[in-house]
Amino acid sequence: MKFDISSINKVSGDSMEIRYQGPLPQDDFFDTISVKDDLLLEGTLTNYDGTILLDGTLKLSYIGQCARCLKPVTRSLNLKLTEKFSTGEIDEETYIYEGNFVDLTKAVNDNIIIALPIRLLCIDQCKGLCPVCGKNRNEDVCHCKESHEETPSENQFGILKNYFSN
Ligand SMILES: [Zn+2]
Ligand SMILES: [Zn+2]
Repeated sequence: MKFDISSINKVSGDSMEIRYQGPLPQDDFFDTISVKDDLLLEGTLTNYDGTILLDGTLKLSYIGQCARCLKPVTRSLNLKLTEKFSTGEIDEETYIYEGNFVDLTKAVNDNIIIALPIRLLCIDQCKGLCPVCGKNRNEDVCHCKESHEETPSENQFGILKNYFSN
């Protein structure tokens, strides 16, 4: 996702429109989601005393897996991007560029990672899979005992209860 900035990097204040429609570069970078179709990046690059400022929007759809029932889930992201690119004096909020090209790949990937939910769920109230029979509890009712009744500590407690009641 490289842009030729030779038309703006000579004069501070100059800016240019940018647009990218295509696959996400380094798609294998994401192991929990895959980006669906093309993503769309639109915005402007502005030269501010040699620092290039990106102001833009990023739209994409992705497919992930529900953390509880493991079904595929499709979501969209609509992000606002404001980033800085510099040839030197890099701080934590600034990306590097060299010569006449600004590569937005890392900035775009970083923005996507931050925007992804920590736990992707198909619906907020997803009931997940039954730990005993594996049925999707959103679609089917099963009559398995709740797993917490079968944990060893509960069993031990049950045995103790029997012991005292005898
Ligand atoms: Zn689910
Ligand atoms: Zn079950």
